[in-house]
Amino acid sequence: MARIFLPPELLIPEQITITGDVARYLSLVLRVKLGDHLIVFDGSGFKYDCTILKSHKKEVIAEKIKKEPYSVESNISITLAQGIAKGEKMDLIIQKATELGVSKVIPLITEHSEVRHTEKINRWRKISLSASQQSGRDKVPQIDEPVSYKVFLYPSLEEGKGGSLKTGLIFSESRKERNLKQALKGFQNIKQITLLVGPEGGFSKEEITAAVEKGFIEVSLGPRILRTETAPITAISIIQYELGDIG
Ligand code: SAH
Repeated sequence: MARIFLPPELLIPEQITITGDVARYLSLVLRVKLGDHLIVFDGSGFKYDCTILKSHKKEVIAEKIKKEPYSVESNISITLAQGIAKGEKMDLIIQKATELGVSKVIPLITEHSEVRHTEKINRWRKISLSASQQSGRDKVPQIDEPVSYKVFLYPSLEEGKGGSLKTGLIFSESRKERNLKQALKGFQNIKQITLLVGPEGGFSKEEITAAVEKGFIEVSLGPRILRTETAPITAISIIQYELGDIG
């Protein structure tokens, strides 16, 4: 089943005209044909069942059949603040975090980051859009511009941004006490949580101390050291199970 996102203003007429990249994606990649079923999400809580009237790489026309409210979004908004991982690992993290229902990813440049500059933001946004479509999400996670760890923790350092304290966890492989379950018990009714995961080189001691001073709880994901891409996938799954919509 083809699933796409379109902005609400394109969804006003009974017959929707789709052009550009989305038309190419539908006709050349998904190969939709006359009479096929198409589901369109408007990104603000509605889903449209449509039938394809025309499929061409330059223009796809679909007729709206039914509009209904739709949401598969979690009751908890999860922000993943992730030390930028090398190569294709960050792509994997963005894709899996989207499937698992995060609201936002903040790529972080930390003390031990090997990646200190990246042009990959548009690529990551595309990955997040296509993973949202594939997994039937009705909202596409926001992928922020990369930010330094300091600016993330003390947003007032960056002009125009006010600093607000975050409810959050910082994951550390050197944490010996297994306190994640207990930490989550204290978070039963929260609506938002921020997860901090380090890059390949992990967080420095100073980074962990600074986060803890800002109110983050330092937690462990068990006695084995997980790779930087395994850690967020594990952490988000656990949070959705304990506080969100996996159950
Ligand atoms: N530099 C470290 C590994 C860092 S792993 C080493 O090789 O010794 C990358 C990130 O994954 C860490 O910063 C942490 O946020 C997370 N992580 C990995 N294993 C973890 C564990 N067992 N508990 C909590 N966090 C973990």
